[in-house]
Amino acid sequence: MALSLKIAALAAAAAFAASTAFAEGYPDRSITMVVPFSAGGPTDTVGRLIAEKMSADLGQQIIVENVGGAGGTLGAGQVAAAEADGYTILLHHIGMATSATLYRSLAYKPLEAFEYVGLVTEVPMTLVARKDFEPTDMASMVAYVKENADTITMANAGIGAASHLCGMLFMQAVEAPIVTVPYKGTGPAMTELLGGQIDIMCDQSTNTAEQIKGGTIKAYAVTSPARLDIFPDLPTVAEAGLPGMEVSIWHGIYTPKGTPAEANDRLSAALQKALADPEIVAKFAELGTAPSAAADATPAALKAKLEAEIARWKPVIETAGVYAD
Ligand code: ASP
Repeated sequence: MALSLKIAALAAAAAFAASTAFAEGYPDRSITMVVPFSAGGPTDTVGRLIAEKMSADLGQQIIVENVGGAGGTLGAGQVAAAEADGYTILLHHIGMATSATLYRSLAYKPLEAFEYVGLVTEVPMTLVARKDFEPTDMASMVAYVKENADTITMANAGIGAASHLCGMLFMQAVEAPIVTVPYKGTGPAMTELLGGQIDIMCDQSTNTAEQIKGGTIKAYAVTSPARLDIFPDLPTVAEAGLPGMEVSIWHGIYTPKGTPAEANDRLSAALQKALADPEIVAKFAELGTAPSAAADATPAALKAKLEAEIARWKPVIETAGVYAD
């Protein structure tokens, strides 16, 4: 064998041995899951439920770190810049796609800065208000908002957050600009809604379900195509006359670009197992959502979803002309 061929063969064997050793040993310490919004919010809720189950399968703890701010782009940026060793992962939602257009100077390129683990869940949103907000149903709410747009306040988790996107669709639907108040996540926004400091919010059912059930906030509609089993009396936005507001908040898990495929595949396997766990299925159902199918909890499915969603929201955002910078 010529010397160069021998060297190439040795290099290939060494690379194979290294990747096999990585696959066998991974993970051998705890993993950090960055959630790009505040603790106690909807993304945090999904992240903590799934992290606990994945930890059990991986045999190592997944520790959730909340890095809120700038509609989820601060946390995503932190993961984009992290070491690509399989020990830092990101749980993000639809904001990964919308921020690609909303921010014209992002520190990372959403389609190029990450590897993919898989889809987690698609969560419906709910249009909610403080308990004593006057309107009693969606029709009177729309009329009231149109009349009082300059005094009503609407919370969101910053430009790029799902609550921002949903609020933008609402304002387009009612053709009225409303004063928006950004938070680092809708966890703290919910506290202010409960305290009556904020009037309305559009947020995932994973944050609002318990409050709606408890009657501590008022709900007007869900953004899913069909009514939710947990709220059979709550109309869909289409039934309530605002079909343009349909949106579901898909969540996915990412790793920094260059993370070994063995790590991503191991994480995908743990994700698929977690999503099939009856406890997760039951808990998600209580919160108005369902786990993604195993076929979607894969790197290829998440990559395809992100590409399609960036293309889907780009014209909507450009038409609205709303940018973060
Ligand atoms: N998911 C929320 C949003 O996008 C933020 C959060 O999780 O706190 O508005």
